[in-house]
Amino acid sequence: MIPVTKPFLPNQENFQNYIDSIWERQWLTNNGPLVNDLELKLKEYLNVDHLLYVSNGTIALQIAIKALELEGEIITTPFSFVATTNSILWQGCKPVYVDIDSETFNIDANKIEEAITPRTTAILATHVYGNPCDIDAIQSIADKYSLKVIYDAAHCFGAKYKNKSVFEYGDISTTSFHATKLFHTIEGGAVFTKDASLLKKMAALRNFGYSGVDSFSIAGINGKNSEFHAAMGLCNLEYIGEILEKRKSLSLHYMERLTNLKCNFQKIKSEEDYNYAYVPIIFEKEELMHACLAALELSKIYCRRYFYPSLSALPYVDNVSMPVCDSIVKRIICLPLYHKLTNSDVDLICRTMLRVQKYLQIGKEEPERSVTRAKNYGALITGQIERTINGSRPN
Ligand SMILES: *Cc1c(COP(=O)(O)O)cnc(C)c1O
Repeated sequence: MIPVTKPFLPNQENFQNYIDSIWERQWLTNNGPLVNDLELKLKEYLNVDHLLYVSNGTIALQIAIKALELEGEIITTPFSFVATTNSILWQGCKPVYVDIDSETFNIDANKIEEAITPRTTAILATHVYGNPCDIDAIQSIADKYSLKVIYDAAHCFGAKYKNKSVFEYGDISTTSFHATKLFHTIEGGAVFTKDASLLKKMAALRNFGYSGVDSFSIAGINGKNSEFHAAMGLCNLEYIGEILEKRKSLSLHYMERLTNLKCNFQKIKSEEDYNYAYVPIIFEKEELMHACLAALELSKIYCRRYFYPSLSALPYVDNVSMPVCDSIVKRIICLPLYHKLTNSDVDLICRTMLRVQKYLQIGKEEPERSVTRAKNYGALITGQIERTINGSRPN
């Protein structure tokens, strides 16, 4: 079985040593020494001024919106994980979608100005798959209209923009350290800002709004994280160089093997500064994607339609048509990528898809029937592949 992702697990003994130290101290949560140490080491590694470790990437977004006291409309992207939109709604604001760029999959900065109204207070954009948005263009629009900028940088660990961590940009950047992310602390996340007073405010928001013993300054929430989670982060951080390198080499191997597949890759702003967090491929035709997914699933290889659906099509928001995003969500998948994946796994995945493409000939049918046909065809091809694996190898 090849899942789309597997969490990275560090040396167990190393983790156990941290756990033993927790037993000795009997200090489990509430800004303990391991949380402090993790914050310090992350600041060093990322070379950022400030960060706060929080319980997850979603609460990070909520704390960011709350700290900036945003109201009214927030301009955002329809192409992100559902948490981006949900955090806006959860804080009582309205998401206003702006379509994405067809090559980078990030919010299209050229379309932001036309979406601004007197009620707009901020832009909340996602650096999709770790590839930074058009940060300069977004900042100059924000400056012109006095808007705040929050970046959902959940995918950005290790990614840089202009020689600095991507987390350094926007009024606040947020990230996730969820087990599925490139760097993880099982559950976890962080908020980043360069503004010391915002940092102080977010620190209070993270901890119920405490401003001292028995005194409260703001209606906060519980966004703290535990010593156990921090221990996992401290262990994993030791491997970060290896993790980034492995992802890069697997990603490049995929690209090399897929040159003949009728699909495109994301346009990366700067390959040097990219973290290879995901391997998204966008098929020219929806039918080929469904056939490939079906064929791979029958071989117990699982990709993920990520992101799908478009956030602008969620049942609880005002649905608007986003032509670029609507077209991309129908044709994009992320291929399996994790530390223990091997080049021969990648070869198998790529060979399966190329074989599906070779045999699949979509006629001029109704689109829906085509998809069904494609799925059936995927199954058929898989049968052939299985026979190939089990028996001789025809070509
Ligand atoms: C993972 C993710 C989140 C949510 O992070 P959690 O830690 O799971 O709450 C938010 N936005 C994006 C783009 C993500 O990928």
